[in-house]
Amino acid sequence: EKRNPGQTEFIQAVREVAQDIFEFIEDKEEYHEAQILRRIAEPDRVVSFRVCWEDDNHNIRVQRGWRVQNNNAIGPYKGGIRFHPTVTESVLKFLAFEQTFKNSLTGLPMGGGKGGSNFNPKGKSDSEVMRFCQSFMTELYRHIGPETDVPAGDIGVGGREIGYMFGQYKRITNRWEGVLTGKALEYGGSQMRPEATGYGAVIFLQNMLQHAGNDVEGKNAVISGSGNVATHAAEKITQLGGKVLTLSDSGGFIHDPDGIGQEKIDWIKELKNVKRGRISEYADHFTGATYHEGARPWAVPCDVALPCATQNELNGEEARELVDNGVIAVSEGANMPTTLEGVDVFHDAHILYAPGKAANAGGVAVSGLEMSQNSERVSWNTERLGDLLHDIMTDIHAKCAQYGGGEEGGYVNYVKGANIAGFKKVADAMLAFGVV
Ligand code: NDP
Repeated sequence: EKRNPGQTEFIQAVREVAQDIFEFIEDKEEYHEAQILRRIAEPDRVVSFRVCWEDDNHNIRVQRGWRVQNNNAIGPYKGGIRFHPTVTESVLKFLAFEQTFKNSLTGLPMGGGKGGSNFNPKGKSDSEVMRFCQSFMTELYRHIGPETDVPAGDIGVGGREIGYMFGQYKRITNRWEGVLTGKALEYGGSQMRPEATGYGAVIFLQNMLQHAGNDVEGKNAVISGSGNVATHAAEKITQLGGKVLTLSDSGGFIHDPDGIGQEKIDWIKELKNVKRGRISEYADHFTGATYHEGARPWAVPCDVALPCATQNELNGEEARELVDNGVIAVSEGANMPTTLEGVDVFHDAHILYAPGKAANAGGVAVSGLEMSQNSERVSWNTERLGDLLHDIMTDIHAKCAQYGGGEEGGYVNYVKGANIAGFKKVADAMLAFGVV
């Protein structure tokens, strides 16, 4: 805390990992001597820069941009870019730290990074977003590259923003190369990338349930968010025979007891991605559905819950309510959506609980596969990528179960499993490099 004053999110993330790692390395002298955990918790570098742009009324606006390059022991830095007014250095440091473990878990050669800006894309015109993205990339380009650091999208950064940033990178450097992932299919994007995070979180959920002798089929799901991750998680739950009861945005949540099936999900995608509307409009459009302003969906009784909006959106009290209502499994599509208190509630009640760093790793895994396709100058088909995503998520589940203390049929602590499995690979690579 003395080292990182005021960086509450970052301290929270490190604290959560440290408990498990201390236990794991207790009898492993080599990790202690090399101060490995301390080194992973100090980013390789944090770049902060000014982003200056002109709005439609010719006002000059000044924003701050960052790129946190946390660790590149096992591959080039990799992690998304977030545009949201709540972005701070602490938030990006926590995300880059978590990303290091997540990327390690995928089994692909990717280090951990994260970037973004406190720019708020909401209410901005297309040209304003374009000018902002171009200005952001005009500084960022010197810190990234296909062998150095390969950013992707995150909250507030979707296909449109990736397009503007990739175009600017190409213009400045005169190089067409896979420097960003999440690109559109026309210019080097990968099949399955938009679906990967949400689908992956549900595949992980399915693995947890099956490991415990259960299944997704017939389960009622409560999901938060209505962006990329939430809508695709809803889609996969529906495909596997579950029923989605809720979705939300920062204004409130909608509850549809009839289930939010594929047609309704398509309507929401159009509402959010094209019309840039609010989730409240759903309740005006579909009879039987209700909108709950300013509230989160966790009080709606369900079998499984998938927080897919943002960090710290599910607290201890809400976790208790979920448990009291009979939830059996929680799979995090978002990054750190559950507070530490909430996590304790799930563990104490022996709920199957998958932390974001394991459950939402499908997105970065397919991003890694997008990098492979770009390097090879090929495009793989949806079926192949769907199979790879499935295999990677199943493999991550197996690693978490191995290190999470789950005897045959016993309770698995997936947080512990993910922390230790993710740490071990990065730590072993760092040991091999000596003191650097
Ligand atoms: P989107 O921008 O597509 O959607 C974010 C959703 O969360 C929107 O519905 C948004 O509502 C809601 N939201 C954002 N901030 C808040 C808040 N403070 N309170 C309540 N709701 C909020 O982002 P993604 O779906 O891509 O990302 C969601 C989460 O998943 C993030 O934590 C992200 O880091 C994580 N993630 C995403 C990956 C990806 O591949 N996209 C990969 C791995 C993790 P509104 O429209 O009102 O802003």
